[in-house]
Amino acid sequence: MPRIVMKFGGTSVADLDRIRNVANRVKREHDAGNEVAVVVSAMSGTTNQLVKWCTDLDPLHDPREYDAVVATGEQVTIGLLAIALQKLGVPARSWQGWQIPIRTDDAHGKARVDSIDGSALIASMQKGEVPVVAGFQGVAPDGRVTTLGRGGSDLSAVALAAALKADRCDIYTDVDGVYTTDPRIVPRARKLDRISFEEMLELASVGAKVLQTRSVEMALKQRVRVQVVSSFEDKPGTLVVDEDEIVEKLIVSGIAYSADDAKVTLRRVPDRPGVAASLFGPLAEANVNVDMIVQNIGADGTTDMTFTVNRTDLPRAKEVLDAAKGSLGYESLQTDPNVVKISVVGIGMRSHAGVASTMFRALSEKGINIQVISTSEIKVSVLVASEYKELAVRALHTAYGLDGPEPAAKAAEEG
Ligand code: ADP
Ligand code: ASP
Ligand code: MG
Repeated sequence: MPRIVMKFGGTSVADLDRIRNVANRVKREHDAGNEVAVVVSAMSGTTNQLVKWCTDLDPLHDPREYDAVVATGEQVTIGLLAIALQKLGVPARSWQGWQIPIRTDDAHGKARVDSIDGSALIASMQKGEVPVVAGFQGVAPDGRVTTLGRGGSDLSAVALAAALKADRCDIYTDVDGVYTTDPRIVPRARKLDRISFEEMLELASVGAKVLQTRSVEMALKQRVRVQVVSSFEDKPGTLVVDEDEIVEKLIVSGIAYSADDAKVTLRRVPDRPGVAASLFGPLAEANVNVDMIVQNIGADGTTDMTFTVNRTDLPRAKEVLDAAKGSLGYESLQTDPNVVKISVVGIGMRSHAGVASTMFRALSEKGINIQVISTSEIKVSVLVASEYKELAVRALHTAYGLDGPEPAAKAAEEG
């Protein structure tokens, strides 16, 4: 009997009508003779509210209590969906992370999944029941509740699919697949029938939140067949596959943006060996991740250093750099949270030159100044002022020939 994991995100369970809609979709797969396990997120907006309550009380709150609070969103939706399923005559029961258990490490707020014991859920499915599992949460070695980082229900679903040896993991969301870029920003974005693990991983890591980065990593490692599909329409979605299963190899297959970064510049840092180490060492110790880095050519024995950190880490980064001012000997510290990182991703970049120059030209034609650049094997990222987000994404989408038909024409085409 085929076994599938179906995951529904926040917008898909945003109210009771949508939960009923989800129950109907689950019933359909169950009636078709599949063994089905469901993973759900909190109702949309709920997690944001819960996070805000913690932060408003204390920006430096105890992360264990943060998890106790934010994990509750999913507890509501599992119960509600189980009720909706039972009402349709489908035997169902809710499961919290600790009840399964989904064991994680103790990195509260961004815990890693260590292991999942699938036996209770398998027994439940074999009895014809549908287990409804709370996404986003697990249990630490000391028994306390953990959460897996924002967007973590995708990871719960993929990890569960691996543990249950499911044939498929279907990620139901509010778009009908993975597009060449966020269709909410570029209406002419095109849906991809397939995307490679590598590209999806890179796109997710630079901001395309349609799948959480770690969920793609897990799918790649555990060989889980993941599909992104619409919760609202019956249409084929996007399959995440190995590179050799992709027929149409685009040089650039996607564009993503992230508004989660902030730029930090240190002016007139003494230009001597070891300065980068003494700068980034303390940041790493304070758990501040540094992403893009540029060091200008030194003049008169000093240099400027610019780098980006996660915007939520900016206060901590400042604290660390202020404290190290004496030993680093820089002149001044400037920060700018009004930046956005725009990235183009494609496996074709391995074999084609000129991808970066197309990007720089397209941006300069729109008068957009590039502040920082970074590249990897299949990605080029630039940092620009926040106000250019839409303009830059659209310009690049056109420059790489990714534009599909106008949405009106698209609708007519699809009938
Ligand atoms: P869920 O609540 O179902 O997990 P998310 O909001 O986390 O949904 O992810 C879906 C959203 O991802 C879409 O609404 C879309 O705005 C955004 N998105 C960003 N980049 C892409 C892309 N390349 N393709 C599709 N959606 C994207
Ligand atoms: N509810 C969690 C969040 O909003 C997890 C998820 O939706 O994937 O981040
Ligand atoms: Mg999500």
